[in-house]
Amino acid sequence: MQNIFRNLPSVNQLLESEPLKKLVDSVNHTVVADGVRNFLDDFRQQVTDKAGEINIPTPQEMADSIADFLKAEEVPYLRKVINGTGIILHTGLGRAPLAKQAIAAVSEISQGYASVEIDLNSGGRGQRAKAVERLLCELTGAEAAVIVNNNAAATMLTLSAMAGGKEVIVSRGQLIEIGGSYRLPDVMECSGSKLREVGTTNKTHPADYENAINENTGALLKVHPSNFEVVGFTKTVSTKEMAAIAHKHGLPLIDDVGSGALIDYSQFGLMDEPIVQDSLNEGADIALFSGDKLIGGPQCGIIVGKSKWIKTILANPLMRAMRVDKMTLAALHATLLLYRDQETVMTQVPILRMLSMPVANLKMRADKVAAQIASSSAVEACEVVQERSMLGGGSLPTQKIPTWCVSISAYGSIDSLTEKLRKCEPAIMGRVQKDRLILDMRTVDVSEDLHLVEAFATIS
Ligand SMILES: *Cc1c(COP(=O)(O)O)cnc(C)c1O
Repeated sequence: MQNIFRNLPSVNQLLESEPLKKLVDSVNHTVVADGVRNFLDDFRQQVTDKAGEINIPTPQEMADSIADFLKAEEVPYLRKVINGTGIILHTGLGRAPLAKQAIAAVSEISQGYASVEIDLNSGGRGQRAKAVERLLCELTGAEAAVIVNNNAAATMLTLSAMAGGKEVIVSRGQLIEIGGSYRLPDVMECSGSKLREVGTTNKTHPADYENAINENTGALLKVHPSNFEVVGFTKTVSTKEMAAIAHKHGLPLIDDVGSGALIDYSQFGLMDEPIVQDSLNEGADIALFSGDKLIGGPQCGIIVGKSKWIKTILANPLMRAMRVDKMTLAALHATLLLYRDQETVMTQVPILRMLSMPVANLKMRADKVAAQIASSSAVEACEVVQERSMLGGGSLPTQKIPTWCVSISAYGSIDSLTEKLRKCEPAIMGRVQKDRLILDMRTVDVSEDLHLVEAFATIS
């Protein structure tokens, strides 16, 4: 045993080895030296505990395993992913990628100080979101706007401010659950408003709302059933009809639009996505939506509508708990500016660029990528197939957009291939369909095609 200890390489010897020298340069000397000492301590302990049974690694093997261990620790939790799933707003992958203008704005604003609550014209105190709120009013036709953390926060804050302690009437066909942790009845309960369900799952009539109104009613709430569809014998009450009923009784109508389309998505073949401007035009007093769904901006929740109600919302104590930071404001402002020009927005907002990408273009890229990855030693066969992309992000799963994909069968199991791809840098995610890995070119940025090819060249 003494012999083994005497023959162990020294800390300095290991630090001079190729893999660890590289890590000292890229990480830092103290971290790597500590890693080496810990490894040697552990190793001595193992030898003491079970001398004779242990295989003595060469100094090179030791250096390699220390380097592997330290590298595994170094990998940040959030890693860049190439999205080959074909789901455009993939909640697991962070929903909308930001426009380069938004990224530049975040970078500039966060590097130093910014006029977050200072009015640079007067030198006095300013409101943190004023410029963005003005832009939201310009784009949606609203009188006023508020920005909070996400649409769940927008819903909770709005209900608390406008109908806390009162009843809010909702159709049974609109009591939605989105992505597991968002359930409307639970959000309502947290807001301190009382859910008053009316109608049935498939049919709700104007009279159902009328009959439920009483002296305890605080508001009527309409919710876009983003991620499901009721077909067959159905009846819903339109925004116009609901607004008329609410206003007749002096009550406000709150409309949770969900994805927050500022333009018409039917041009991409996606029907049924309500447009924020329409909701306000049809009489909603307040409309709520997400910033990182169909707008293609940062995660946030947007509340637009009548000044009177926005004032009430701003005065609610929850407002301070849900307000956004300067980076979100900068990113949202830069994204919304792109909406001032119909053509700019299509090419500059990544999700709109993906949605408007012509299929012929996708086929060409799929052909090229398939030809190049076919020679990978991990790939048994590879072909180009016509498929359908999905919008995702809690939007209707039945609405799909034609696309072209690379379809791969692997030597060995498909699970082992997907695992290797997840460990690539950047990580690559696709979808598995009948033992084949499908990579949808619509959600892969053109600039990432080369990374795909390179990743397949390195795995085996
Ligand atoms: C997505 C969605 C929400 C939740 O929005 P988050 O921004 O994820 O909090 C709420 N309501 C509707 C109708 C939605 O589509």
